[in-house]
Amino acid sequence: MTCCSKKKVMVLATGGTIAMKMDEKIGALVPACTGEDLVAAVPGLDKVAHVEVEQICNVASPNMTPEIMFKLHQRAEELLARDDVAGVVITHGTDTLEETSYFLDITHQSDKPIVLTAAMRGAGDVSPDGPANIYCAVQAAADCSSRGKGVMVCLNNLLHAAGEVMKTHSANCATFASPWWGPIGYVEADRIVYRRVPVAHRIFNPKALTARVDLIKAVTGSDRTYIDFAVAQGCKGIIVEGFGRGNIPPMMEDGISDACAKGVVVIISTRTPGGRVLDVYGYPGSVTDSCKRGAIMGGEISAAKARLKLILALSENPELAGDRKTLQEIFDE
Ligand code: ASP
Repeated sequence: MTCCSKKKVMVLATGGTIAMKMDEKIGALVPACTGEDLVAAVPGLDKVAHVEVEQICNVASPNMTPEIMFKLHQRAEELLARDDVAGVVITHGTDTLEETSYFLDITHQSDKPIVLTAAMRGAGDVSPDGPANIYCAVQAAADCSSRGKGVMVCLNNLLHAAGEVMKTHSANCATFASPWWGPIGYVEADRIVYRRVPVAHRIFNPKALTARVDLIKAVTGSDRTYIDFAVAQGCKGIIVEGFGRGNIPPMMEDGISDACAKGVVVIISTRTPGGRVLDVYGYPGSVTDSCKRGAIMGGEISAAKARLKLILALSENPELAGDRKTLQEIFDE
């Protein structure tokens, strides 16, 4: 059987606005639909693929945790290893979709696709976007040309690479974008059109998630207080989200020195949605300063994605905490 003749797509439902309806009593959206309900509301889906549904959870995506992502990863890979499954679709809330998709991407073992989708409008709203997004996601997951493309996010007919995509608007249906890169492809009526292939990257395979990693956002006037707090809480790593190239207020630096001296990994990321962290400046608080104190440059992924990457890297190999060279390679790939 070729991959094209295997048209079974597994839909793993996790919740999100796509599965919510207005609760008239409180005047706000709440979880209301199962994965089966979502699939049943998509006209013609049975012509695209044979779809089976599993309900993993039914939560708004701010409830998502790395532990749920890990379970999702294990279940998706288990399903993809089956000969009869062409791909997996995951329905999810939009708020943390970019985190879950990234987690799944850097743990993805199979070359078959995982496509995450979502909706900005509730299932009972005027013109909900959920059904069309599910239709396109299943179309992409069932298609042979999606093999080797990693984990993708599909909304508004566009296919984004998990490492590049972000939610850019709090309400608009065109919220998902890949700043500086653009989508890797799109879903057409007759086929999937790919315009580029995401670059290959390291895959992590921890047995369990064991490392706590905290994220601290630098703002003007920040000092070491939250770094000291995170260290006192027993975290194994800290992501410091800096400005521009990754520079931070100098009052944070002694906290970084002390954290690193205690074996805590400190990664410097940037609040800008594009570009790498780099040690091009030499003033106090610059990336050069942070690196001298033991920090690692976090590459071009967002701070939230860097946190997940460090959780996975340290959970797979705790010894990495003492190997700055390898950590630097991992974060700048
Ligand atoms: N708050 C919702 C969630 O992420 C937003 C959505 O799904 O669009 O679950």
